[in-house]
Amino acid sequence: MAAIVHRCACGHLDHVHHTNPTKDDTRPCYLCGCADADPGAPEVIPTWRAATPTAQALPDPALIEPGTLDGPGLGRLCDCEACWSLYRTTGDAAGRAA
Ligand SMILES: [Zn+2]
Ligand SMILES: [Zn+2]
Ligand SMILES: [Zn+2]
Repeated sequence: MAAIVHRCACGHLDHVHHTNPTKDDTRPCYLCGCADADPGAPEVIPTWRAATPTAQALPDPALIEPGTLDGPGLGRLCDCEACWSLYRTTGDAAGRAA
């Protein structure tokens, strides 16, 4: 699968920032402790899947729909309008290529 995510100005993906604003209305990063999440435009990141535990993991081009709960990996994917827009354009491109 491929997932649509936002990347914070600190370089880490949005999902490693606190999901809800802390009491001073900021969303610090779990990894680097940046003061507040500053998510940029959405981008597509590949996710990897192996057919068996010992097989080589291969990129899975299918796009995960925004808002999908992707379990422990990425958590719940963002479903803002920008993500949906990217999902539609990227999904269409993948469909034409197939
Ligand atoms: Zn950050
Ligand atoms: Zn960070
Ligand atoms: Zn979004």
